[in-house]
Amino acid sequence: MEITYNKTSNNDKKVELDKIKKKCLSCQKCPLGKTRTKLVFSSGNPNSKMMLIGEAPGYWEDVKGEPFVGKAGQLLDKIFASVGLSRENDVYICNTLKCRPPDNRDPLPEEKEACREHLDAQLNIIKPQIILLCGRVAVQSMLDTNLGITKIRGKWFDGPNGCKMMPIFHPSYLLRNDSREKGSPKWLMWQDIQEIKRVYDTIKSE
Ligand code: SF4
Repeated sequence: MEITYNKTSNNDKKVELDKIKKKCLSCQKCPLGKTRTKLVFSSGNPNSKMMLIGEAPGYWEDVKGEPFVGKAGQLLDKIFASVGLSRENDVYICNTLKCRPPDNRDPLPEEKEACREHLDAQLNIIKPQIILLCGRVAVQSMLDTNLGITKIRGKWFDGPNGCKMMPIFHPSYLLRNDSREKGSPKWLMWQDIQEIKRVYDTIKSE
């Protein structure tokens, strides 16, 4: 899907994001709006040039109203910290869906379609130059591919308005695969985050 970014100054971003969040708070475009505990809109720095898109809120995200909390969130923070990046300063984080699917089931196609409007609005305000697609659901939402995440992680793809997109493993998957041996998911993630940092530094210095 082609997204055309509108011009938004850094000062306007918070105001614009608050408007989208308010819209999401009253959104009933799919049934998840009725069953969620809290809306999970975003975290991180809206002025960063890097955005991470995850899947859908899980149990703790739904309770706290924040993406990537609990063990998966802690691991994501450690992955960023391993190359000197932080969630607070270097990345804006959101999910494909803003409300939790019951029992952590996969989002349904109609739910993803209904919530796409909100994700596109966030993209339009943040205007990222790097988008990290965290997990299969995010990949399928942003890339026209049926290839599994293990086949395409670590590769750069063209994104909206000339940005670069890279699929990466979801930290929940890494928590289930403990090995750090060469070729293991954690080892591959370490290669990917170093490449992400290299490109992020280039973009930051432009
Ligand atoms: S998941 Fe998205 S589309 Fe569905 S109710 Fe929540 S905000 Fe609206």
